[in-house]
Amino acid sequence: MSNPLLSIVVPCYNEEEVIGETSRRLKAFCAGLTDLDYELVFIDDGSRDGTRALLKEIAMADPHVRLIAFARNFGHQIAVSAGLDAAHGDAVVLIDADLQDPPEVIHQMVALWREGYDVVYGTRTDRPGESAFKLSTARTFYRLLNKLSDVPIPLDTGDFRLMSRKVVDVLRAMPERDRFVRGMVSWAGFRQTSLPYARAERFAGESKYPLKKMIRFATDGILSFSSKPLQLSIGVGMTAAALALLGIVYAVALRLFTNIWVEGWTALMIAVLFLGGVQLVCVGILGEYMGRVYSEVKRRPLYVVDEYIGYAGGSGPAAS
Ligand code: UDP
Ligand code: MG
Repeated sequence: MSNPLLSIVVPCYNEEEVIGETSRRLKAFCAGLTDLDYELVFIDDGSRDGTRALLKEIAMADPHVRLIAFARNFGHQIAVSAGLDAAHGDAVVLIDADLQDPPEVIHQMVALWREGYDVVYGTRTDRPGESAFKLSTARTFYRLLNKLSDVPIPLDTGDFRLMSRKVVDVLRAMPERDRFVRGMVSWAGFRQTSLPYARAERFAGESKYPLKKMIRFATDGILSFSSKPLQLSIGVGMTAAALALLGIVYAVALRLFTNIWVEGWTALMIAVLFLGGVQLVCVGILGEYMGRVYSEVKRRPLYVVDEYIGYAGGSGPAAS
């Protein structure tokens, strides 16, 4: 009987400075695996530097390594999804390309998987080398998300995790476009456990998550896992209407029972601008959900692959 297969999925975007070291570390790690076969699945997410050429070389030289090269940059979560589609493993590990997540931790993940857990997610106890801004926004984001989301999503947990085949198949059967993978895994259920680990500094290069991508990612997380913003906008609208009602009662009472009337532009302008603002915000929230519905109904493929390397026939992974 053959050994179970472990797939390690690595999304890469403009990582030429780290990719050589990453593949060395991962290969060294895999070589030390006993009674497990392995494959390394790299996804080149439309890098504009030498990443793709480097990955190609690595994949051609080693039958354990596969490369899926996207036609353009589709984003981290989509790259991870493509890796899950292509991985054949009985267990699949997601890991970043920048060595912030130490490969050695996978040993403990595998041990817990063998104990019967379907998901082992790494929880960051320490994050050296990240800006105070990133740390505090990340902290706030995970807590807010957890408050809003309908399924509990573990705090301070990234995509570094091991998943059993069962869980991967559930994720692959979820057709949604806005893919917030860590939330989708929570949604799937099964036996999940956390594994605390200290996150290292990026090996080289800089973060591929500029503020704009971070905001997009956070919005995706919240809007894909909660409809509370919609309820919130109803609440804000009701509050504004209640305030206006109080204003009316006040104005009428003054008019009927005193000689001083409410007058002036200021109050009027404030009321109009306030209501206008509230309305626009609520319409904006609606629009965000609408836009998501729109992109769902277009039913475009999630990603476009330019090239598969390391698969028999070069035509990509056979359906598993
Ligand atoms: N990444 C990707 N596509 C993107 C942005 C990032 O595949 O559009 C990959 C990147 O190469 C890395 C992982 O996602 O392997 C996490 O990115 P990064 O380390 O820059 O994020 P941070 O750790 O700073 O949050
Ligand atoms: Mg990183």
